[in-house]
Amino acid sequence: MLIVRDLEDLRAARVKLGPLALVPTMGALHDGHISLLAAARETGLPVAASIFVNPLQFSPKEDLSRYPRDETGDLARLEAAGCDLAWLPQVEAMYPLGRATSIEVLGPSEGWEGAARPEHFRGVATVCAKLFNQTGAAVAVFGEKDWQQYQVIRRMVADLDLPVRIIGGPTVRESDGLAMSSRNRFMDEASRALAPLLHHAMQSAGTAILRGTQAAAALEAAQAGLTAAGFAVDYLALVEAATLREAAAPPGRLIAAAKLGGVRLLDNIKVG
Ligand code: AMP
Repeated sequence: MLIVRDLEDLRAARVKLGPLALVPTMGALHDGHISLLAAARETGLPVAASIFVNPLQFSPKEDLSRYPRDETGDLARLEAAGCDLAWLPQVEAMYPLGRATSIEVLGPSEGWEGAARPEHFRGVATVCAKLFNQTGAAVAVFGEKDWQQYQVIRRMVADLDLPVRIIGGPTVRESDGLAMSSRNRFMDEASRALAPLLHHAMQSAGTAILRGTQAAAALEAAQAGLTAAGFAVDYLALVEAATLREAAAPPGRLIAAAKLGGVRLLDNIKVG
């Protein structure tokens, strides 16, 4: 595996490897990330993963310095997964002094995570556009786990005619149903034991909706159950899959964010 940390070396690696399938990550890799590498491999292209904890997508209130980092462990996981190129840009090179351009995607960025974290998707879109340009990726793979992010990237690529094909990979879960996330490690034992209830409540609501219960009533009941169990639910909503606009009935995506034990949990499932 080539390990590359500056743009000059990346250019040389691109010449050597040719068109790539890229998996952008912020590191602290788990099996969810690794499944995206497997999806990238299925394209038949050489596989690249980027590791970059992107300061632009953290608000001043969120603790960028607390985000888990484990470069040695990550590189070993990438190597074991058969990754061909690890791209680890430095913050100063990514965002040089005087930087004055960012990408704002409206539509699917609005509401939900976009409302809770106002600068977040601008940071995500900007860094992903840069990563696509730096690597010249022919394909980029994103996790359905972050459904809104996935749709924001698809919208950006379509709107800007970026020459990259976006692929989604299904959410990888722990055996009890909790969606894997780099932040799960911050939960204490009691919160961790309770956390799968989010997914279970969503599944029950999704099933009820498909059986004919009004979406609003099913979601209200699910939210009440989660609140009673100790979750601080930020949103639980049925939305159109691509636009993230609220939907009154299926088909759609059930999306949720809830805080538990100081950790913001995100999840989503297909309904219909
Ligand atoms: P992150 O490192 O959290 O920025 O995530 C990097 C990529 O991995 C994003 O496309 C995420 O959506 C994806 N991802 C994170 N968790 C999971 C998961 N449990 N299953 C599948 N993909 C995931």
